[in-house]
Amino acid sequence: MSKQFLEMPDEKGYFGEYGGQIIPPPLIDIMNEINDAYEKVSNSQAFKDELYDLQKNYIGRPSPIYHAKRITEKAGGAQIYLKREDLNHTGAHKINHCIGEALLAKHMGKTKVLAETGAGQHGVALATACALVGMDCEIHMGEIDIEKEHPNVTKMKILGCKLVPVSRGTRTLKDAVDSAFEEYLKDPANYFYAIGSVVGPHPFPKMVRDFQSVVGREAREQFLETNDKLPDTLIACVGGGSNAMGLFTAFLEDEDVQMIGVEPAGKGLDTPDNAATLTLGTKGAIHGFECYNLQDEEGNPLPVYSIASGLDYPGVGPQHCYLKDIERVEYVTADDKECLNAFMELSQLEGIIPALESAHAVAHAMRIAKDLPADKTILVNLSGRGDKDADFVADKLAL
Ligand SMILES: *Cc1c(COP(=O)(O)O)cnc(C)c1O
Repeated sequence: MSKQFLEMPDEKGYFGEYGGQIIPPPLIDIMNEINDAYEKVSNSQAFKDELYDLQKNYIGRPSPIYHAKRITEKAGGAQIYLKREDLNHTGAHKINHCIGEALLAKHMGKTKVLAETGAGQHGVALATACALVGMDCEIHMGEIDIEKEHPNVTKMKILGCKLVPVSRGTRTLKDAVDSAFEEYLKDPANYFYAIGSVVGPHPFPKMVRDFQSVVGREAREQFLETNDKLPDTLIACVGGGSNAMGLFTAFLEDEDVQMIGVEPAGKGLDTPDNAATLTLGTKGAIHGFECYNLQDEEGNPLPVYSIASGLDYPGVGPQHCYLKDIERVEYVTADDKECLNAFMELSQLEGIIPALESAHAVAHAMRIAKDLPADKTILVNLSGRGDKDADFVADKLAL
Protein backbone atom coordinates (compact mmCIF):
# COMPACT_ATOMS: atom_id res chain seq x y z
CA MET A 1 0.00 0.00 0.00
CA SER A 2 1.44 3.36 -0.97
CA LYS A 3 2.12 5.90 1.73
CA GLN A 4 1.33 8.74 -0.66
CA PHE A 5 -1.75 9.88 1.25
CA LEU A 6 -1.02 8.75 4.76
CA GLU A 7 1.83 11.18 5.23
CA MET A 8 -0.12 14.27 4.20
CA PRO A 9 0.35 17.07 5.05
CA ASP A 10 4.12 17.67 5.23
CA GLU A 11 5.74 19.28 8.28
CA LYS A 12 4.79 22.77 7.18
CA GLY A 13 1.19 21.75 6.64
CA TYR A 14 1.26 21.50 2.85
CA PHE A 15 -0.77 19.12 0.73
CA GLY A 16 1.22 19.58 -2.47
CA GLU A 17 1.12 23.34 -2.99
CA TYR A 18 -1.96 23.92 -0.80
CA GLY A 19 -2.35 24.61 2.90
CA GLY A 20 0.50 26.02 4.97
CA GLN A 21 0.40 28.87 7.48
CA ILE A 22 -0.20 32.22 5.79
CA ILE A 23 -0.28 34.09 9.10
CA PRO A 24 1.97 36.49 11.06
CA PRO A 25 5.02 34.90 12.78
CA PRO A 26 3.68 35.14 16.38
CA LEU A 27 0.63 33.16 15.31
CA ILE A 28 2.80 30.61 13.53
CA ASP A 29 4.42 29.85 16.88
CA ILE A 30 1.02 29.38 18.48
CA MET A 31 -0.21 27.14 15.66
CA ASN A 32 2.94 25.05 15.99
CA GLU A 33 2.28 24.73 19.70
CA ILE A 34 -1.22 23.50 18.94
CA ASN A 35 0.26 21.03 16.45
CA ASP A 36 2.76 19.71 18.99
CA ALA A 37 0.09 19.39 21.67
CA TYR A 38 -2.22 17.67 19.19
CA GLU A 39 0.46 15.16 18.11
CA LYS A 40 1.26 14.36 21.72
CA VAL A 41 -2.26 14.21 23.08
CA SER A 42 -3.79 12.36 20.13
CA ASN A 43 -1.19 9.60 20.50
CA SER A 44 -1.81 9.14 24.21
CA GLN A 45 -3.97 6.20 25.22
CA ALA A 46 -5.89 8.30 27.77
CA PHE A 47 -7.00 10.80 25.11
CA LYS A 48 -7.91 8.04 22.65
CA ASP A 49 -9.97 6.29 25.33
CA GLU A 50 -11.74 9.52 26.32
CA LEU A 51 -12.53 10.37 22.69
CA TYR A 52 -13.68 6.85 21.90
CA ASP A 53 -15.96 6.79 24.94
CA LEU A 54 -17.59 10.09 23.89
CA GLN A 55 -17.94 8.98 20.28
CA LYS A 56 -19.73 5.85 21.41
CA ASN A 57 -21.79 6.94 24.39
CA TYR A 58 -22.37 10.63 23.68
CA ILE A 59 -22.46 11.06 19.89
CA GLY A 60 -23.98 7.59 19.46
CA ARG A 61 -21.35 6.17 17.11
CA PRO A 62 -21.03 4.13 15.04
CA SER A 63 -23.65 5.74 12.82
CA PRO A 64 -25.45 3.12 10.71
CA ILE A 65 -25.14 2.48 7.01
CA TYR A 66 -28.58 2.21 5.47
CA HIS A 67 -29.43 0.64 2.11
CA ALA A 68 -31.89 3.15 0.60
CA LYS A 69 -33.90 0.74 -1.54
CA ARG A 70 -36.72 3.05 -2.59
CA ILE A 71 -34.37 5.81 -3.68
CA THR A 72 -32.32 3.16 -5.49
CA GLU A 73 -35.43 1.92 -7.27
CA LYS A 74 -36.44 5.46 -8.21
CA ALA A 75 -33.01 6.25 -9.65
CA GLY A 76 -32.95 2.85 -11.39
CA GLY A 77 -29.43 1.38 -11.40
CA ALA A 78 -26.65 1.20 -8.82
CA GLN A 79 -27.49 0.49 -5.16
CA ILE A 80 -27.50 3.65 -3.02
CA TYR A 81 -26.38 3.47 0.62
CA LEU A 82 -26.35 6.26 3.19
CA LYS A 83 -23.83 6.78 5.99
CA ARG A 84 -26.17 8.21 8.61
CA GLU A 85 -24.24 11.11 10.16
CA ASP A 86 -27.65 12.76 10.52
CA LEU A 87 -28.31 10.38 13.41
CA ASN A 88 -25.44 11.73 15.52
CA HIS A 89 -26.26 13.74 18.63
CA THR A 90 -26.96 17.32 17.40
CA GLY A 91 -27.88 15.92 13.97
CA ALA A 92 -24.76 16.27 11.86
CA HIS A 93 -21.11 15.34 11.42
CA LYS A 94 -19.78 18.60 12.93
CA ILE A 95 -19.96 17.23 16.47
CA ASN A 96 -17.15 14.78 15.52
CA HIS A 97 -14.52 17.49 15.21
CA CYS A 98 -16.02 19.92 17.73
CA ILE A 99 -15.62 17.39 20.53
CA GLY A 100 -12.06 16.72 19.38
CA GLU A 101 -11.22 20.43 19.37
CA ALA A 102 -12.88 21.15 22.73
CA LEU A 103 -11.05 18.21 24.33
CA LEU A 104 -7.73 19.37 22.89
CA ALA A 105 -8.30 22.94 24.13
CA LYS A 106 -9.04 21.57 27.57
CA HIS A 107 -5.95 19.35 27.61
CA MET A 108 -3.84 22.36 26.57
CA GLY A 109 -5.19 24.33 29.53
CA LYS A 110 -6.77 27.00 27.31
CA THR A 111 -9.28 29.25 29.08
CA LYS A 112 -11.77 29.96 26.29
CA VAL A 113 -12.90 28.43 23.01
CA LEU A 114 -13.83 30.93 20.30
CA ALA A 115 -15.48 30.67 16.92
CA GLU A 116 -17.65 32.39 14.39
CA THR A 117 -20.81 30.88 12.99
CA GLY A 118 -22.88 31.64 9.90
CA ALA A 119 -26.10 29.68 9.95
CA GLY A 120 -25.33 28.55 13.48
CA GLN A 121 -24.56 24.88 12.81
CA HIS A 122 -20.91 25.16 13.84
CA GLY A 123 -21.91 27.36 16.78
CA VAL A 124 -24.40 24.83 18.13
CA ALA A 125 -22.03 21.87 17.69
CA LEU A 126 -19.21 23.76 19.39
CA ALA A 127 -21.39 25.07 22.23
CA THR A 128 -22.54 21.48 22.78
CA ALA A 129 -18.97 20.16 22.88
CA CYS A 130 -17.90 22.93 25.28
CA ALA A 131 -20.82 22.24 27.61
CA LEU A 132 -19.81 18.59 27.54
CA VAL A 133 -16.16 19.05 28.43
CA GLY A 134 -16.66 22.14 30.61
CA MET A 135 -14.98 24.89 28.57
CA ASP A 136 -15.99 28.55 28.28
CA CYS A 137 -17.27 29.16 24.77
CA GLU A 138 -17.77 32.41 22.83
CA ILE A 139 -19.48 32.50 19.44
CA HIS A 140 -19.53 35.52 17.13
CA MET A 141 -22.47 35.78 14.77
CA GLY A 142 -23.64 38.50 12.35
CA GLU A 143 -26.86 40.30 13.33
CA ILE A 144 -28.52 39.39 10.04
CA ASP A 145 -27.77 35.72 10.65
CA ILE A 146 -29.02 36.02 14.23
CA GLU A 147 -32.37 37.23 12.89
CA LYS A 148 -32.55 34.45 10.31
CA GLU A 149 -31.42 31.51 12.40
CA HIS A 150 -33.59 31.81 15.43
CA PRO A 151 -33.66 28.15 16.59
CA ASN A 152 -29.86 27.83 16.51
CA VAL A 153 -29.43 31.12 18.35
CA THR A 154 -31.78 29.93 21.08
CA LYS A 155 -29.95 26.61 21.34
CA MET A 156 -26.57 28.29 21.73
CA LYS A 157 -27.94 30.45 24.54
CA ILE A 158 -29.46 27.46 26.31
CA LEU A 159 -26.19 25.55 25.94
CA GLY A 160 -24.49 28.31 27.90
CA CYS A 161 -22.16 29.87 25.37
CA LYS A 162 -21.59 33.61 25.12
CA LEU A 163 -23.17 34.80 21.89
CA VAL A 164 -21.61 37.98 20.50
CA PRO A 165 -23.78 39.77 17.90
CA VAL A 166 -21.69 41.40 15.14
CA SER A 167 -23.03 44.71 13.87
CA ARG A 168 -20.25 45.79 11.50
CA GLY A 169 -20.13 45.54 7.69
CA THR A 170 -22.74 43.32 6.09
CA ARG A 171 -23.48 41.80 9.54
CA THR A 172 -23.01 38.26 8.18
CA LEU A 173 -20.43 35.46 8.28
CA LYS A 174 -17.43 37.38 6.95
CA ASP A 175 -17.81 40.08 9.62
CA ALA A 176 -18.32 37.43 12.29
CA VAL A 177 -14.99 35.86 11.24
CA ASP A 178 -13.22 39.24 11.57
CA SER A 179 -14.84 39.93 14.94
CA ALA A 180 -14.07 36.51 16.43
CA PHE A 181 -10.52 36.68 15.13
CA GLU A 182 -9.94 40.08 16.75
CA GLU A 183 -11.09 38.70 20.06
CA TYR A 184 -8.78 35.70 19.58
CA LEU A 185 -5.79 37.97 18.94
CA LYS A 186 -6.27 39.59 22.37
CA ASP A 187 -4.83 36.47 24.00
CA PRO A 188 -4.00 33.71 21.52
CA ALA A 189 -1.79 31.92 24.05
CA ASN A 190 -4.80 31.25 26.27
CA TYR A 191 -7.67 31.19 23.79
CA PHE A 192 -8.42 28.44 21.29
CA TYR A 193 -9.96 29.34 17.93
CA ALA A 194 -12.02 26.31 16.93
CA ILE A 195 -12.17 26.18 13.14
CA GLY A 196 -15.32 24.59 11.73
CA SER A 197 -14.01 22.62 8.75
CA VAL A 198 -10.81 21.26 7.15
CA VAL A 199 -9.67 24.84 6.46
CA GLY A 200 -7.52 27.53 8.12
CA PRO A 201 -3.79 27.43 8.89
CA HIS A 202 -1.91 24.20 9.67
CA PRO A 203 -2.61 22.13 11.80
CA PHE A 204 -6.39 22.65 11.47
CA PRO A 205 -6.97 20.97 8.08
CA LYS A 206 -5.13 17.90 9.38
CA MET A 207 -6.68 17.90 12.86
CA VAL A 208 -10.26 18.37 11.72
CA ARG A 209 -9.74 15.66 9.07
CA ASP A 210 -8.37 13.25 11.66
CA PHE A 211 -11.30 13.89 14.02
CA GLN A 212 -13.73 13.33 11.14
CA SER A 213 -11.95 10.27 9.76
CA VAL A 214 -13.89 8.04 12.15
CA VAL A 215 -16.72 8.29 9.58
CA GLY A 216 -14.76 6.55 6.82
CA ARG A 217 -13.09 4.03 9.14
CA GLU A 218 -16.49 2.90 10.38
CA ALA A 219 -18.00 2.92 6.89
CA ARG A 220 -15.18 0.78 5.48
CA GLU A 221 -15.62 -1.84 8.17
CA GLN A 222 -19.42 -1.79 8.08
CA PHE A 223 -19.56 -2.07 4.31
CA LEU A 224 -17.08 -4.96 4.20
CA GLU A 225 -19.06 -6.75 6.86
CA THR A 226 -22.44 -6.49 5.14
CA ASN A 227 -21.40 -6.51 1.46
CA ASP A 228 -18.09 -8.43 1.50
CA LYS A 229 -16.54 -5.73 -0.66
CA LEU A 230 -15.91 -2.02 -0.63
CA PRO A 231 -18.35 0.47 -2.15
CA ASP A 232 -17.64 1.27 -5.81
CA THR A 233 -18.27 4.99 -5.35
CA LEU A 234 -18.26 7.43 -2.44
CA ILE A 235 -20.12 10.74 -2.65
CA ALA A 236 -20.10 13.68 -0.22
CA CYS A 237 -21.00 17.36 -0.40
CA VAL A 238 -18.16 19.87 -0.13
CA GLY A 239 -18.36 23.22 1.64
CA GLY A 240 -15.06 23.55 3.51
CA GLY A 241 -14.78 19.82 2.99
CA SER A 242 -14.80 18.18 6.44
CA ASN A 243 -17.54 15.60 5.99
CA ALA A 244 -16.08 14.62 2.61
CA MET A 245 -12.54 14.21 4.02
CA GLY A 246 -14.07 12.30 6.93
CA LEU A 247 -15.54 9.73 4.56
CA PHE A 248 -12.75 9.69 1.95
CA THR A 249 -9.65 9.40 4.15
CA ALA A 250 -10.03 5.70 4.99
CA PHE A 251 -10.44 4.84 1.28
CA LEU A 252 -7.73 6.98 -0.33
CA GLU A 253 -5.42 3.98 -0.82
CA ASP A 254 -8.20 1.84 -2.32
CA GLU A 255 -7.61 2.54 -5.98
CA ASP A 256 -10.82 0.86 -7.09
CA VAL A 257 -12.99 3.10 -4.95
CA GLN A 258 -14.11 6.14 -6.93
CA MET A 259 -14.68 9.33 -4.93
CA ILE A 260 -16.80 12.31 -5.82
CA GLY A 261 -17.18 15.65 -4.03
CA VAL A 262 -20.28 17.70 -4.83
CA GLU A 263 -20.09 21.49 -4.73
CA PRO A 264 -23.08 23.85 -4.78
CA ALA A 265 -23.83 25.33 -8.21
CA GLY A 266 -26.46 27.55 -6.53
CA LYS A 267 -28.44 29.40 -9.20
CA GLY A 268 -26.03 28.21 -11.89
CA LEU A 269 -22.32 28.08 -12.72
CA ASP A 270 -22.88 30.84 -15.28
CA THR A 271 -24.25 33.18 -12.58
CA PRO A 272 -22.34 34.77 -9.67
CA ASP A 273 -24.69 32.96 -7.28
CA ASN A 274 -22.79 29.75 -6.61
CA ALA A 275 -20.03 28.47 -4.35
CA ALA A 276 -18.31 25.97 -6.67
CA THR A 277 -14.81 26.73 -5.45
CA LEU A 278 -12.94 23.72 -6.86
CA THR A 279 -14.88 23.85 -10.12
CA LEU A 280 -14.49 27.57 -10.90
CA GLY A 281 -11.85 28.87 -8.47
CA THR A 282 -8.23 29.94 -8.91
CA LYS A 283 -5.26 29.54 -6.58
CA GLY A 284 -4.80 32.04 -3.78
CA ALA A 285 -4.77 32.53 -0.02
CA ILE A 286 -7.71 32.93 2.34
CA HIS A 287 -8.03 32.73 6.15
CA GLY A 288 -4.44 31.68 6.70
CA PHE A 289 -3.91 28.99 4.04
CA GLU A 290 -3.57 28.43 0.30
CA CYS A 291 -6.28 26.80 -1.75
CA TYR A 292 -8.58 27.26 -4.72
CA ASN A 293 -10.59 30.46 -4.17
CA LEU A 294 -13.52 32.25 -5.67
CA GLN A 295 -11.84 35.65 -5.81
CA ASP A 296 -11.75 38.89 -7.77
CA GLU A 297 -8.72 40.19 -9.68
CA GLU A 298 -7.19 41.64 -6.51
CA GLY A 299 -7.55 38.38 -4.64
CA ASN A 300 -10.51 39.45 -2.49
CA PRO A 301 -13.02 36.70 -1.80
CA LEU A 302 -16.15 36.97 -3.97
CA PRO A 303 -19.59 36.87 -2.40
CA VAL A 304 -20.76 33.28 -2.67
CA TYR A 305 -24.18 31.70 -2.50
CA SER A 306 -25.90 28.36 -2.05
CA ILE A 307 -29.37 27.36 -0.92
CA ALA A 308 -27.45 25.37 1.72
CA SER A 309 -25.79 27.92 3.98
CA GLY A 310 -23.25 25.35 5.22
CA LEU A 311 -21.75 25.17 1.72
CA ASP A 312 -21.26 28.83 0.84
CA TYR A 313 -17.57 29.31 1.52
CA PRO A 314 -15.27 31.02 -1.06
CA GLY A 315 -12.28 28.79 -0.17
CA VAL A 316 -11.99 25.02 0.30
CA GLY A 317 -9.84 22.61 2.30
CA PRO A 318 -6.27 22.29 0.97
CA GLN A 319 -6.33 18.50 0.79
CA HIS A 320 -9.30 18.65 -1.58
CA CYS A 321 -7.33 20.99 -3.86
CA TYR A 322 -4.50 18.48 -3.93
CA LEU A 323 -6.83 15.51 -4.50
CA LYS A 324 -8.43 17.39 -7.39
CA ASP A 325 -5.08 18.19 -9.03
CA ILE A 326 -3.85 14.58 -8.86
CA GLU A 327 -7.32 13.43 -9.99
CA ARG A 328 -7.85 11.07 -7.05
CA VAL A 329 -11.20 12.74 -6.33
CA GLU A 330 -13.58 14.10 -8.94
CA TYR A 331 -15.45 17.31 -8.10
CA VAL A 332 -18.84 18.01 -9.64
CA THR A 333 -21.74 20.34 -8.85
CA ALA A 334 -25.45 20.21 -8.09
CA ASP A 335 -27.62 23.32 -8.21
CA ASP A 336 -30.37 24.57 -5.88
CA LYS A 337 -33.11 22.95 -7.91
CA GLU A 338 -31.47 19.52 -7.97
CA CYS A 339 -30.81 19.88 -4.24
CA LEU A 340 -34.44 20.69 -3.44
CA ASN A 341 -35.59 17.83 -5.62
CA ALA A 342 -33.31 15.35 -3.81
CA PHE A 343 -34.42 16.81 -0.45
CA MET A 344 -38.06 16.02 -1.26
CA GLU A 345 -37.35 12.62 -2.82
CA LEU A 346 -35.32 11.35 0.11
CA SER A 347 -37.99 12.64 2.50
CA GLN A 348 -40.90 11.05 0.66
CA LEU A 349 -39.29 7.83 -0.53
CA GLU A 350 -37.28 6.98 2.58
CA GLY A 351 -38.73 9.05 5.42
CA ILE A 352 -35.36 10.75 5.88
CA ILE A 353 -35.33 14.56 5.79
CA PRO A 354 -31.74 15.45 4.83
CA ALA A 355 -29.89 18.70 5.44
CA LEU A 356 -29.90 20.82 2.27
CA GLU A 357 -26.10 20.44 2.28
CA SER A 358 -26.34 16.64 2.22
CA ALA A 359 -29.10 16.74 -0.40
CA HIS A 360 -26.45 17.91 -2.92
CA ALA A 361 -24.68 14.56 -2.48
CA VAL A 362 -27.96 12.63 -2.75
CA ALA A 363 -28.80 14.52 -5.96
CA HIS A 364 -25.55 13.46 -7.60
CA ALA A 365 -25.91 9.86 -6.42
CA MET A 366 -29.31 9.61 -8.10
CA ARG A 367 -27.94 11.29 -11.22
CA ILE A 368 -25.14 8.74 -11.72
CA ALA A 369 -26.90 5.65 -10.31
CA LYS A 370 -29.21 5.39 -13.29
CA ASP A 371 -26.29 4.88 -15.68
CA LEU A 372 -24.69 2.14 -13.59
CA PRO A 373 -25.62 -1.58 -13.34
CA ALA A 374 -27.56 -2.83 -10.31
CA ASP A 375 -24.57 -4.71 -8.89
CA LYS A 376 -22.63 -1.44 -8.39
CA THR A 377 -22.79 0.37 -5.05
CA ILE A 378 -22.72 4.05 -4.12
CA LEU A 379 -22.18 5.21 -0.55
CA VAL A 380 -23.39 8.74 0.21
CA ASN A 381 -22.32 10.62 3.32
CA LEU A 382 -25.59 11.95 4.71
CA SER A 383 -23.82 14.68 6.66
CA GLY A 384 -26.83 16.02 8.55
CA ARG A 385 -30.56 16.03 9.12
CA GLY A 386 -32.90 18.62 7.65
CA ASP A 387 -34.98 19.79 10.61
CA LYS A 388 -33.18 23.14 10.37
CA ASP A 389 -34.27 23.46 6.73
CA ALA A 390 -37.85 22.19 6.94
CA ASP A 391 -39.61 25.57 7.34
CA PHE A 392 -37.49 27.18 4.65
CA VAL A 393 -38.23 24.42 2.14
CA ALA A 394 -41.94 24.36 2.94
CA ASP A 395 -42.02 28.10 2.33
CA LYS A 396 -39.99 27.89 -0.85
CA LEU A 397 -42.17 25.14 -2.33
CA ALA A 398 -45.38 26.67 -0.94
CA LEU A 399 -46.28 23.41 0.83
C1 LIG B 1 -21.51 22.53 7.82
C2 LIG B 1 -22.16 21.42 7.09
C3 LIG B 1 -21.65 20.94 5.86
C4 LIG B 1 -20.48 21.58 5.15
O1 LIG B 1 -19.26 21.49 5.80
P1 LIG B 1 -18.09 20.52 5.32
O2 LIG B 1 -16.93 20.99 6.12
O3 LIG B 1 -17.90 20.71 3.85
O4 LIG B 1 -18.50 19.14 5.63
C5 LIG B 1 -22.26 19.86 5.26
N1 LIG B 1 -23.35 19.27 5.82
C6 LIG B 1 -23.88 19.69 6.98
C7 LIG B 1 -25.07 19.00 7.52
C8 LIG B 1 -23.31 20.79 7.65
O5 LIG B 1 -23.85 21.20 8.81
